[in-house]
Amino acid sequence: MKRNAPLDPSTLAAQGLGWEDAETGAVIRPVHVATTYARDENYALPDDRTYIRDASPALDQAESMIATLENAAEAMVFSSGLAACMAPFQALRPGDRVVAQSGIYFGVPTWLDEFGDAHGLDRVMVPAGDEEALLAAVRAAPTALVWIENPSNPMLDVADIRAIADATHDSGGLLCVDSTTATPVHSRHLDLGADIVAHSATKYLNGHSDVLCGALAVREPGDLWERIRRHRYLTGPQPGGFDLFLLVRGMRTLFVRVERQSANAQKIAEFLEDHPKVPRVNYPGLPGHPRHTLAKAQMQNGFGGLLSFHVDGGEAAALQVAKNVQLIKRATSLGGVETLIEHRYTVEPEGTTTPPDLLRLSMGIEDAGDLISDLSQALDRL
Ligand SMILES: *Cc1c(COP(=O)(O)O)cnc(C)c1O
Repeated sequence: MKRNAPLDPSTLAAQGLGWEDAETGAVIRPVHVATTYARDENYALPDDRTYIRDASPALDQAESMIATLENAAEAMVFSSGLAACMAPFQALRPGDRVVAQSGIYFGVPTWLDEFGDAHGLDRVMVPAGDEEALLAAVRAAPTALVWIENPSNPMLDVADIRAIADATHDSGGLLCVDSTTATPVHSRHLDLGADIVAHSATKYLNGHSDVLCGALAVREPGDLWERIRRHRYLTGPQPGGFDLFLLVRGMRTLFVRVERQSANAQKIAEFLEDHPKVPRVNYPGLPGHPRHTLAKAQMQNGFGGLLSFHVDGGEAAALQVAKNVQLIKRATSLGGVETLIEHRYTVEPEGTTTPPDLLRLSMGIEDAGDLISDLSQALDRL
């Protein structure tokens, strides 16, 4: 074996970075649930840990794995994806200008709408998919933070990370990319120019629809990153030890799961594209996607497990297809090993830009033939 060859991220993930339990040699580290750490008789801390909100061995392996997979200097885990996504905004200073996309995962624009004023944030919202408008907004005034999703959920718009990063840096700010749908299997957004990557680890990183978790990873820690860390310490959105144990276990199989989910998504996208009742499929792996070439340059190992498609006949027809499926589950969320279908328009807040004829699919790891049969009978019964 070439001892000094850099190991592939899939190798590092499978072995949990090779960490063992120092006390027993166990290849799986124990579930750490302690909230507090004993001092010695001189009132010194043997391991520099005082209290769980500050530092816990339960955080270490998950954060080291995420930092390694994202090629980041550091990572922080949070008790949900939204806790992670909102932390950079909450760590800004009053008067800071932010440019963010609308038409992405609804939580971020909704928080900015309802709480942005209370935090004194000067914000500009630009529809995902309109990159000219985004670049113009970033260039219009000094901007502290730019927030985008790539590819976006649920429309699968693809953003040019290098171009947006350059504009953001010229404007004096940091680019945050929600990489939940891409995962580090497909894109390392920090290598492409982003400053901070966010994840709903509830989705692909954990991958089994049984943990609520989030993460941030940073290319180069600076003032904002330290404020985010301080904010997390003072507000306490850290996951507990059991959830972190499950997250680490989930991440060990990240690559095989996501590669299978992406392969399934590609096959299902191609099937849907040829279906007479489907006028349009949104998936960056299709040559007909408006930014397929860019997606190819920014992604490897496939194009992700998320796709969406429009159904002839509008909202009623889309809901009928969701009703007709027999194997695929009707449920929100994404990234689990079971395939889910969702009518986002029904669940999003009033005024959503998500089209009513749209269905979103989060591909699981089932047999692609079984999934195609299910969608085929659901569409044919329209
Ligand atoms: C689900 C999701 C979130 C929110 O994450 P939670 O873990 O549910 O809090 C944020 N961004 C994207 C892209 C998501 O899909």
